[in-house]
Amino acid sequence: MMIDMKYFNVYYFCHLANESMGKFEYASTNAEFTEQQFQIEPEEFPRISVLREYCSWLVDRVFYEQASLISNDQAYDFNPISWINQAITKYKQIVISTENEFKFDEDDYLETYNNYLEYINKYEDGLFYSVIYDIATEVEYILFQNRDFLLRFNEQQAVAFEDNPRTRVYIPEWVKRAVLFRDKGCCVFCKKDLTGLYTLLEDNEKQFDHIVPLHDGGINDVCNIQLSCKECNLKKSDSSKTSTLYRSSY
Ligand SMILES: [Zn+2]
Repeated sequence: MMIDMKYFNVYYFCHLANESMGKFEYASTNAEFTEQQFQIEPEEFPRISVLREYCSWLVDRVFYEQASLISNDQAYDFNPISWINQAITKYKQIVISTENEFKFDEDDYLETYNNYLEYINKYEDGLFYSVIYDIATEVEYILFQNRDFLLRFNEQQAVAFEDNPRTRVYIPEWVKRAVLFRDKGCCVFCKKDLTGLYTLLEDNEKQFDHIVPLHDGGINDVCNIQLSCKECNLKKSDSSKTSTLYRSSY
Protein backbone atom coordinates (compact mmCIF):
# COMPACT_ATOMS: atom_id res chain seq x y z
CA MET A 1 0.00 0.00 0.00
CA MET A 2 1.27 3.48 -0.80
CA ILE A 3 0.64 6.35 1.60
CA ASP A 4 0.41 9.81 0.08
CA MET A 5 1.79 11.73 3.06
CA LYS A 6 0.11 15.10 3.67
CA TYR A 7 1.52 15.69 7.18
CA PHE A 8 -1.60 17.52 8.37
CA ASN A 9 -0.62 18.24 12.01
CA VAL A 10 0.57 14.66 12.11
CA TYR A 11 3.44 15.45 14.46
CA TYR A 12 1.04 17.10 16.87
CA PHE A 13 -0.85 13.82 17.20
CA CYS A 14 2.40 11.81 17.36
CA HIS A 15 3.56 14.07 20.16
CA LEU A 16 0.34 13.61 22.13
CA ALA A 17 0.54 9.83 21.72
CA ASN A 18 4.20 9.71 22.67
CA GLU A 19 3.86 12.02 25.65
CA SER A 20 0.74 10.39 27.08
CA MET A 21 1.63 6.72 26.66
CA GLY A 22 2.80 5.13 29.88
CA LYS A 23 2.47 8.36 31.87
CA PHE A 24 0.48 8.08 35.05
CA GLU A 25 -1.59 11.26 34.54
CA TYR A 26 -2.93 9.97 31.21
CA ALA A 27 -3.28 6.36 32.28
CA SER A 28 -7.06 6.39 32.48
CA THR A 29 -7.44 8.10 29.09
CA ASN A 30 -5.31 5.57 27.21
CA ALA A 31 -6.90 2.74 29.21
CA GLU A 32 -10.25 3.73 27.65
CA PHE A 33 -8.90 2.66 24.27
CA THR A 34 -7.50 -0.59 25.67
CA GLU A 35 -10.86 -1.42 27.26
CA GLN A 36 -12.81 -0.66 24.08
CA GLN A 37 -10.40 -2.57 21.90
CA PHE A 38 -10.48 -5.76 23.91
CA GLN A 39 -14.15 -6.07 24.61
CA ILE A 40 -14.28 -8.01 21.37
CA GLU A 41 -12.27 -11.18 20.75
CA PRO A 42 -8.99 -9.86 19.27
CA GLU A 43 -7.71 -11.02 15.91
CA GLU A 44 -4.14 -12.32 15.68
CA PHE A 45 -1.98 -10.00 13.56
CA PRO A 46 -4.87 -7.97 12.13
CA ARG A 47 -4.09 -6.09 8.91
CA ILE A 48 -5.42 -2.94 10.52
CA SER A 49 -3.07 -3.09 13.46
CA VAL A 50 -4.00 -2.30 17.04
CA LEU A 51 -1.66 0.67 16.72
CA ARG A 52 -3.65 2.00 13.73
CA GLU A 53 -6.88 1.53 15.71
CA TYR A 54 -5.33 3.52 18.55
CA CYS A 55 -4.21 6.33 16.22
CA SER A 56 -7.76 6.64 14.79
CA TRP A 57 -9.18 6.64 18.30
CA LEU A 58 -6.70 9.29 19.43
CA VAL A 59 -7.34 11.70 16.55
CA ASP A 60 -11.11 11.34 16.95
CA ARG A 61 -10.81 11.76 20.70
CA VAL A 62 -8.72 14.94 20.43
CA PHE A 63 -11.25 16.56 18.09
CA TYR A 64 -14.09 15.62 20.45
CA GLU A 65 -12.23 16.73 23.59
CA GLN A 66 -11.36 20.09 22.12
CA ALA A 67 -14.98 20.65 21.09
CA SER A 68 -16.03 19.72 24.60
CA LEU A 69 -13.52 22.18 26.13
CA ILE A 70 -14.76 25.02 23.95
CA SER A 71 -18.37 24.33 24.92
CA ASN A 72 -17.36 24.47 28.58
CA ASP A 73 -15.60 27.79 28.03
CA GLN A 74 -12.23 26.33 28.92
CA ALA A 75 -8.92 26.96 27.29
CA TYR A 76 -8.39 25.16 23.98
CA ASP A 77 -5.54 24.74 21.56
CA PHE A 78 -7.40 24.79 18.29
CA ASN A 79 -10.83 25.07 16.76
CA PRO A 80 -11.82 21.54 15.73
CA ILE A 81 -14.19 22.68 12.98
CA SER A 82 -11.54 24.80 11.35
CA TRP A 83 -9.08 21.90 11.54
CA ILE A 84 -11.63 19.48 10.08
CA ASN A 85 -12.18 21.85 7.15
CA GLN A 86 -8.47 22.28 6.51
CA ALA A 87 -7.96 18.50 6.68
CA ILE A 88 -10.86 17.79 4.30
CA THR A 89 -9.46 20.28 1.79
CA LYS A 90 -6.00 18.78 2.07
CA TYR A 91 -6.92 15.07 1.98
CA LYS A 92 -10.08 15.06 -0.13
CA GLN A 93 -9.81 18.28 -2.13
CA ILE A 94 -13.31 19.21 -0.98
CA VAL A 95 -14.04 22.77 0.16
CA ILE A 96 -16.82 22.87 2.75
CA SER A 97 -19.16 25.82 2.52
CA THR A 98 -21.20 26.78 5.55
CA GLU A 99 -22.62 30.02 4.18
CA ASN A 100 -26.40 30.23 4.68
CA GLU A 101 -26.61 26.50 5.20
CA PHE A 102 -25.12 25.64 8.55
CA LYS A 103 -26.13 27.30 11.80
CA PHE A 104 -23.48 27.72 14.47
CA ASP A 105 -24.87 27.72 17.99
CA GLU A 106 -22.53 29.95 19.99
CA ASP A 107 -23.99 28.72 23.29
CA ASP A 108 -23.52 25.03 22.69
CA TYR A 109 -20.37 24.32 20.78
CA LEU A 110 -20.46 20.57 21.37
CA GLU A 111 -23.94 20.34 19.84
CA THR A 112 -22.72 22.48 16.93
CA TYR A 113 -19.71 20.20 16.51
CA ASN A 114 -21.85 17.04 16.43
CA ASN A 115 -24.26 18.65 13.96
CA TYR A 116 -21.33 19.69 11.85
CA LEU A 117 -20.05 16.12 11.58
CA GLU A 118 -23.48 15.17 10.20
CA TYR A 119 -23.57 18.21 7.96
CA ILE A 120 -20.33 17.35 6.16
CA ASN A 121 -21.71 13.88 5.34
CA LYS A 122 -23.75 15.70 2.68
CA TYR A 123 -20.53 16.14 0.75
CA GLU A 124 -19.51 12.51 1.09
CA ASP A 125 -20.81 9.74 3.32
CA GLY A 126 -18.51 9.14 6.29
CA LEU A 127 -16.28 12.07 5.28
CA PHE A 128 -15.08 12.90 8.80
CA TYR A 129 -14.05 9.34 9.68
CA SER A 130 -12.44 8.88 6.30
CA VAL A 131 -10.21 11.92 6.97
CA ILE A 132 -9.48 10.70 10.50
CA TYR A 133 -8.41 7.38 9.04
CA ASP A 134 -6.06 9.14 6.60
CA ILE A 135 -4.46 11.19 9.38
CA ALA A 136 -4.22 8.10 11.62
CA THR A 137 -2.45 6.18 8.85
CA GLU A 138 0.27 8.84 8.76
CA VAL A 139 0.50 9.03 12.55
CA GLU A 140 0.91 5.24 12.67
CA TYR A 141 3.60 5.36 9.97
CA ILE A 142 5.71 7.66 12.15
CA LEU A 143 4.98 6.03 15.53
CA PHE A 144 5.75 2.57 14.11
CA GLN A 145 9.39 3.67 13.79
CA ASN A 146 9.56 4.65 17.46
CA ARG A 147 10.24 1.41 19.34
CA ASP A 148 10.44 3.14 22.68
CA PHE A 149 6.86 4.33 22.14
CA LEU A 150 5.88 0.84 20.93
CA LEU A 151 7.21 -0.68 24.15
CA ARG A 152 5.07 1.65 26.28
CA PHE A 153 2.10 1.18 23.96
CA ASN A 154 2.31 -2.60 24.14
CA GLU A 155 2.72 -2.55 27.91
CA GLN A 156 -0.53 -0.56 28.03
CA GLN A 157 -2.33 -3.08 25.80
CA ALA A 158 -0.90 -5.99 27.81
CA VAL A 159 -2.97 -4.97 30.82
CA ALA A 160 -5.95 -6.61 29.11
CA PHE A 161 -4.18 -9.94 28.66
CA GLU A 162 -2.00 -10.44 31.71
CA ASP A 163 -4.36 -13.02 33.15
CA ASN A 164 -5.32 -14.49 29.83
CA PRO A 165 -2.18 -14.60 27.64
CA ARG A 166 -2.41 -14.77 23.86
CA THR A 167 -1.09 -17.96 22.30
CA ARG A 168 1.91 -18.10 19.99
CA VAL A 169 0.84 -18.14 16.36
CA TYR A 170 2.73 -18.16 13.08
CA ILE A 171 3.91 -14.64 12.21
CA PRO A 172 2.56 -13.70 8.76
CA GLU A 173 5.07 -12.85 6.02
CA TRP A 174 3.80 -9.26 5.72
CA VAL A 175 4.55 -8.68 9.42
CA LYS A 176 8.08 -10.09 9.01
CA ARG A 177 8.65 -7.88 5.98
CA ALA A 178 7.43 -4.78 7.83
CA VAL A 179 9.65 -5.47 10.86
CA LEU A 180 12.67 -6.50 8.77
CA PHE A 181 12.53 -3.21 6.85
CA ARG A 182 11.86 -1.05 9.91
CA ASP A 183 14.76 -2.57 11.84
CA LYS A 184 16.93 -2.55 8.69
CA GLY A 185 17.62 -6.26 8.93
CA CYS A 186 19.61 -5.90 12.18
CA CYS A 187 19.15 -7.11 15.73
CA VAL A 188 17.73 -4.08 17.58
CA PHE A 189 20.05 -4.76 20.56
CA CYS A 190 23.50 -5.64 19.19
CA LYS A 191 22.98 -4.51 15.54
CA LYS A 192 24.14 -7.87 14.18
CA ASP A 193 23.14 -8.13 10.51
CA LEU A 194 20.41 -10.77 10.31
CA THR A 195 19.60 -10.43 6.62
CA GLY A 196 21.77 -13.42 5.76
CA LEU A 197 20.29 -15.43 8.58
CA TYR A 198 16.82 -14.44 7.51
CA THR A 199 17.13 -16.12 4.17
CA LEU A 200 19.50 -18.93 5.26
CA LEU A 201 17.79 -20.14 8.40
CA GLU A 202 14.61 -22.09 8.13
CA ASP A 203 14.21 -21.37 11.80
CA ASN A 204 13.89 -17.62 11.24
CA GLU A 205 10.76 -17.36 13.41
CA LYS A 206 13.12 -17.04 16.37
CA GLN A 207 14.55 -13.75 15.07
CA PHE A 208 11.14 -12.13 15.39
CA ASP A 209 10.71 -11.21 19.00
CA HIS A 210 7.64 -9.96 20.87
CA ILE A 211 8.58 -6.60 22.46
CA VAL A 212 6.20 -7.38 25.33
CA PRO A 213 6.27 -11.20 25.69
CA LEU A 214 3.04 -13.15 25.25
CA HIS A 215 3.13 -14.48 28.83
CA ASP A 216 3.14 -10.87 30.10
CA GLY A 217 0.04 -10.08 28.07
CA GLY A 218 1.84 -9.07 24.85
CA ILE A 219 -0.33 -9.03 21.74
CA ASN A 220 0.11 -10.65 18.35
CA ASP A 221 0.29 -7.43 16.37
CA VAL A 222 2.79 -5.98 13.93
CA CYS A 223 3.53 -3.19 16.42
CA ASN A 224 4.68 -5.69 19.07
CA ILE A 225 7.37 -7.42 16.97
CA GLN A 226 11.05 -6.54 16.59
CA LEU A 227 14.17 -8.15 15.15
CA SER A 228 16.50 -9.76 17.65
CA CYS A 229 19.33 -12.26 17.26
CA LYS A 230 19.21 -15.49 19.28
CA GLU A 231 21.88 -14.37 21.75
CA CYS A 232 20.12 -11.09 22.57
CA ASN A 233 16.81 -12.90 22.69
CA LEU A 234 18.22 -15.23 25.35
CA LYS A 235 19.60 -12.29 27.35
CA LYS A 236 16.25 -10.54 27.11
CA SER A 237 14.86 -13.67 28.79
CA ASP A 238 11.17 -12.99 28.43
CA SER A 239 11.23 -9.42 29.70
CA SER A 240 9.66 -6.42 27.95
CA LYS A 241 12.50 -4.64 26.26
CA THR A 242 13.57 -2.80 23.14
CA SER A 243 16.33 -0.38 22.23
CA THR A 244 16.55 3.16 20.96
CA LEU A 245 19.41 2.35 18.60
CA TYR A 246 18.86 3.12 14.93
CA ARG A 247 21.08 2.74 11.92
CA SER A 248 21.42 6.14 10.32
CA SER A 249 19.97 6.50 6.82
CA TYR A 250 23.23 7.78 5.37
ZN1 LIG B 1 21.69 -9.20 19.03
